[in-house]
Amino acid sequence: MKLVTEQMEQFLSGGAWIRRIFEQGLELKQQYGEDAVCDFSLGNPDLPPPAVVGECLAEMAQQADKPFAFGYMPNPGYPAVRAALAEHLAKEQGIALTANDLLLTCGAAGGINVFFRAVLTPGDEVICPIPYFVEYGFYAGNHGGVLKPVPTRPENFDLDIAAMEAAITPRTRVVLINSPNNPTGQVYSAETLRELAAMLTRVSAGRERPIYLLADEPYRFLAYDGVDVPSVLPLYSYAVVIGSFSKNLSLPGERVGYVVVSPLLDGREKLVSAMVFANRILGFVNAPAVGQSLLLRALGQEVDRSIYARRREAMAGVLTRAGYEFVMPRGAFYFFPKSPEADELAFLKRLTAERVLAVPGRGFGLPGYFRLAFCVDETVINRSEAGFAKALRA
Ligand code: PLP
Repeated sequence: MKLVTEQMEQFLSGGAWIRRIFEQGLELKQQYGEDAVCDFSLGNPDLPPPAVVGECLAEMAQQADKPFAFGYMPNPGYPAVRAALAEHLAKEQGIALTANDLLLTCGAAGGINVFFRAVLTPGDEVICPIPYFVEYGFYAGNHGGVLKPVPTRPENFDLDIAAMEAAITPRTRVVLINSPNNPTGQVYSAETLRELAAMLTRVSAGRERPIYLLADEPYRFLAYDGVDVPSVLPLYSYAVVIGSFSKNLSLPGERVGYVVVSPLLDGREKLVSAMVFANRILGFVNAPAVGQSLLLRALGQEVDRSIYARRREAMAGVLTRAGYEFVMPRGAFYFFPKSPEADELAFLKRLTAERVLAVPGRGFGLPGYFRLAFCVDETVINRSEAGFAKALRA
């Protein structure tokens, strides 16, 4: 009996190794206790949200008996939240924005889906540098799109713009970048982004359907050593930025994000209206009422970044002393070291036996590497050193 589609059957069996590693981790935790396992598999921010979040929730509780306290609202979000966010993003992105240039979404994930629903025709291609957040392929596929992964520079995972241009076909509709990057921690420089924008401007000229540049930026707030995270909105008319409060306010379960369109785009009202409509018909309806109220109060605040910075140093020390090869992440909370053997699944088996959990690079379209999420306490990072060293020697 076929209870689900063949595609879903394939998706479910295709990710079997992810589940295996996850289940192995659960077994280890049961067997040895949570504290004996160093789990770097999940990018689930562990820092508490800024104090204002709790204060705002307490105030909201006082108002909960009012009619429509949690009622439906316009599909793009509360007008006051849209307006405040536009003002905030104008400073952050370095370009004048109004409330009409953006909409609130159910996280960055909801935002990407809403954008794809608005612009993709079945068979359209979405170019994306390797390695990449695995959900991108599913999100494109949800709307008939096809992800076309393109190699990056092997020495540091920076964009290879010539490779991106070579991958463009008449069906290319979107170039999707993510900086600071999950899983590599790379942050693209202003010069690289200008070069990319220039290439896209040249290629899009004369096309009836322009190629959008979609910048997924949930880690924008988290760059280290004073590294700048340049904005794409002033660089290209068809630039669209996706943001989120999952990481900077540690609110991933509350599902609030946004999509903002470059004000250089003439006729952008059409694109925004299409995304607002998509927000409705995909069943998101609107971003959560509570989350929007929280972000209105917390706008401009963030979790204590210095904790992530210390963990990054600690993790770099652990990996260096244990003998691993890696590029120091410039942003986000991930390391993407080279696997000491070509088959990273075989290596991760040994690492798991040392009770250290990581995600294989093939989960991000790049076998031969593995990802470590350092949103865990520094003691866990330090404790993992012996396991890393032993797995390498084995
Ligand atoms: N994009 C990237 C690169 C991510 O790493 C994540 C979450 O980890 C998301 C999007 C989804 O974020 P959100 O929780 O805002 O939907």
